[in-house]
Amino acid sequence: MRITVHQTGSDADLGEQHCCICRQRFHLGPVSCRAFSGPAPEVLWGEVCSACVQGGPDYIQRWLDSFAWSARMSAAQKTEAAEEGISDCPTLDEVLVAESFYERPMFRTPEEYDAALSRGEIL
Ligand SMILES: [Zn+2]
Repeated sequence: MRITVHQTGSDADLGEQHCCICRQRFHLGPVSCRAFSGPAPEVLWGEVCSACVQGGPDYIQRWLDSFAWSARMSAAQKTEAAEEGISDCPTLDEVLVAESFYERPMFRTPEEYDAALSRGEIL
């Protein structure tokens, strides 16, 4: 991966961005750092925040290692799901009937839902 310094392209690019490394929001000003990887043509990852630049290569490498681990886990889970196949799936008619029956969610707040779930009152 290469991280390079650029003059930000236009006024439309200024403002809040998500760092392509740590995913945190940051304010992009007239200077931007961009991450590229791979052989030509390189893949542009996006803008890099100043915290990641300040953290340096080791800090950024830890984020990349974390992404790689997450990607491997996600790929393994998706592969397992694909190999499992679909054992049950409602029809659209069943969904529409359920929508006409349930007019609102079970609880008003996520906390009420979580409490009922932890008490075993719902599945
Ligand atoms: Zn960052």
